[in-house]
Amino acid sequence: MTDLTGIYVHIPFCRQKCFYCDFPSYAGLDSVFDDYAAALRREIDRRSGLLSSCRIDTIYFGGGTPTLLSSHAILSILETLQRRFTVLKDVEISIEANPGTIDKEKLRSLRSAGFNRISFGVQSFSDSVLQSAGRIHTAQQAVQSIREAQAAGFANVSVDLMYGLPGQTQKDVLFSFQQAIRLQISHISVYGLKVEEGTPLEAALHSGRAVLPDEDDELAMYELATRILPENGYFRYEISNYARLGSQSRHNLKYWRYLPYIGFGAAACSFFDNERLTNTPDVMDYIAMVRENRDPAAVRERIEAGTAMAEYAFLALRTVQGICFADFSDRFQVQFESHYAEQIDRLLHQQLICQYPGGIRLTPLGMKFGNLVFAAFLPKKDK
Ligand code: SF4
Repeated sequence: MTDLTGIYVHIPFCRQKCFYCDFPSYAGLDSVFDDYAAALRREIDRRSGLLSSCRIDTIYFGGGTPTLLSSHAILSILETLQRRFTVLKDVEISIEANPGTIDKEKLRSLRSAGFNRISFGVQSFSDSVLQSAGRIHTAQQAVQSIREAQAAGFANVSVDLMYGLPGQTQKDVLFSFQQAIRLQISHISVYGLKVEEGTPLEAALHSGRAVLPDEDDELAMYELATRILPENGYFRYEISNYARLGSQSRHNLKYWRYLPYIGFGAAACSFFDNERLTNTPDVMDYIAMVRENRDPAAVRERIEAGTAMAEYAFLALRTVQGICFADFSDRFQVQFESHYAEQIDRLLHQQLICQYPGGIRLTPLGMKFGNLVFAAFLPKKDK
């Protein structure tokens, strides 16, 4: 196992569920925040012995809304990680935050404890769009939180923006990008809405209470991002991610480069030594299992070579570097070009990928229809 490893800490709490969300995050569990933080510290303490050879170069607190926890709770978890692992000096320490759940004081204490990257779930700078998505904040609160984070010393501020939301227009999307650019954000993630089964949004669409932009509009919104952001100094380093030079998310790059990471918390996933572990998603079960010294991993999956090669291929293709043949053969002792010759020919013919000396990457068309490309690499039995 590569000893440079990332750590992910999952905080599965939100003030209220957004209408489109099916992530493992829960509203109304404020009474268990302290127990959950204690369980996290205990899980870290317990598992760190087995993982003591790892050197940690990225730590990511994600959710949910990690900033719903008190500064004291967040810092106690970070301190446990720092005490239990060998954390490198230049470690990237990120936290996700939602505007309206963080103030100047919390920002300052996070920054002075070592957090050096903050990612705000802004989604839109239009109040009507935010309301129709069930977000808890206003556009003004988003602007204020970003400015306060910058004033607290966060040089690396990221925002998530969405397109295709109910009632959203191309003008709204353009305004959101312009606002992020004006605020001198260093990193912008852009996601298209996916309507998930069982969400309030799906019900609202079904009953006609909500209406989505049509396909042409949605495509135009996607294309706005691919044009406006690079024109303003944000290079697209992954299908959904744009950054100013040097501000790429080092932690998320680990996922796309198929590098090891350790996850702590309910629903958190770990990936190392060709194995994937996923903790139970149930918060109360997680707390009880850790308290009783039981293993909270609900799923343990050995990753076979064929699956690992396919996962590596479609994750690497998400990035602008794409697949480097030498890196692939170092890792799997298999020649990518011959193993996937048929897929490469077909995708080249469809102009979804292009070749560069020593590798392949997605074309702009491939970026748009990434799922078609990724499906081509799945092992046949999984198709
Ligand atoms: S803030 Fe994020 S995790 Fe929480 S409900 Fe909204 S989309 Fe889901």
